[in-house]
Amino acid sequence: MATQRIAIIGGGPGGLMLARLLQRQGKCPVVLERDRHAEERPQGGSLDMHSETGQYAMERAGLREAFMAAARPEDQGDRLYNAEGELLFDRNEPTDDRPEIDRSVLRQILLNSLTPGTVLWGRRITRIAPEKGGFVVGGDGWSEQFDAVVGADGAWSVVRPLLSDALPLYEGVTLVELGFDVSRHPRVSKLTGNGKMLAVGDNRALITQRNGDGHIRGYAGVRLAESMAKEWGSWSGENVRQALRDVFAGWAPELQDVIETGDFIGVRPLYALPIEHSWKNQAGLTLLGDAAHLMSPFSGEGVNLALADAVELADALASTDDWSSISRYERTMCARATVAAEGAAQGLRSVFSSSGVEHVLEHYRARVHA
Ligand SMILES: Cc1cc2nc3c(=O)[nH]c(=O)nc-3n(C[C@H](O)[C@H](O)[C@H](O)COP(=O)(O)OP(=O)(O)OC[C@H]3O[C@@H](n4cnc5c(N)ncnc54)[C@H](O)[C@@H]3O)c2cc1C
Repeated sequence: MATQRIAIIGGGPGGLMLARLLQRQGKCPVVLERDRHAEERPQGGSLDMHSETGQYAMERAGLREAFMAAARPEDQGDRLYNAEGELLFDRNEPTDDRPEIDRSVLRQILLNSLTPGTVLWGRRITRIAPEKGGFVVGGDGWSEQFDAVVGADGAWSVVRPLLSDALPLYEGVTLVELGFDVSRHPRVSKLTGNGKMLAVGDNRALITQRNGDGHIRGYAGVRLAESMAKEWGSWSGENVRQALRDVFAGWAPELQDVIETGDFIGVRPLYALPIEHSWKNQAGLTLLGDAAHLMSPFSGEGVNLALADAVELADALASTDDWSSISRYERTMCARATVAAEGAAQGLRSVFSSSGVEHVLEHYRARVHA
């Protein structure tokens, strides 16, 4: 089967990386992205890029220099507080091992690397149907024929149902996302240190993380029933803040400051696909990144896995003219994602428990001694 016309659904980090690598092989992929332009939605916070996956992918894409110019190795610090505001752990040694980069900056580096016109913006795909040995892909009164389709369309992938019945399940924890400017929020900046601060109490946590451009991203994490998480999602920022005041009542004033002063961004219930999610190989169709292995952010692996998937999928597509090599890619990818998903599930359970602070302290100390 020829795989000349490849549609990549989704222009997140995984889809854009795949497009870049395929273009370096002389192929002409098309990225179909639902957003109308790159700035339509806030792209989220800072990501740490791991050497063997995320950084390796940037290297393979010929983008190491651009990445290192934008990356922030100085922002890899970790701080841990308990609910009383006692600083229990403070590590602040920059290394090149896991430099941070803003998700929006990473996406822009990848976009800049593509041949103009590769990404077709404003294409929300709603229909993918097998036809004439390939697939008709369409949405919003538009459709086109492709030889192969890659679902790089994240958590609620429209490609995944063609391969698997799996659905993301709510993880029992919801994050309320908050934004801070260092200039307007010097106290939160001081609390955060050079990197990320985690304050952990009984089944709840506050997280702040330094981003580029003088910003800090914060998250208030709480255990909530799914129905309640949906309700919070329909509330105004001020109503959500009031609910958080109740959840974090009794915490140290400098920690409550995070809730009181942050600019409200949104309510993010955490979902994950079943661990070990896999599917039967089907000619012309596959998945990468969150579409294949959505997990909670508590392993810090999501974007790294998406980029590593793109490298392996591009290599597999280069190695043969048919789809036979893709089942090997899928097996390797699913095995790697399973390990990370187990870590993410364990991380979430540990932090949001009655002894979360002890678990995190133990984890941080073990990392120092590793
Ligand atoms: C709070 C939080 C913190 C995180 N922190 C980290 C971290 O520190 N380190 C880390 O490695 N990972 C982290 N992650 C995870 C990381 O952001 C994701 O794993 C990563 O973005 C996945 O990339 P992707 O390309 O697979 O999917 P996505 O980034 O979700 O991109 C999917 C793209 O597909 C588009 N799309 C969706 N549906 C359609 C459609 N029907 N038609 C067309 N386009 C569509 C979307 O608009 C989007 O652009 C975090 C996630 C969260 C929520």
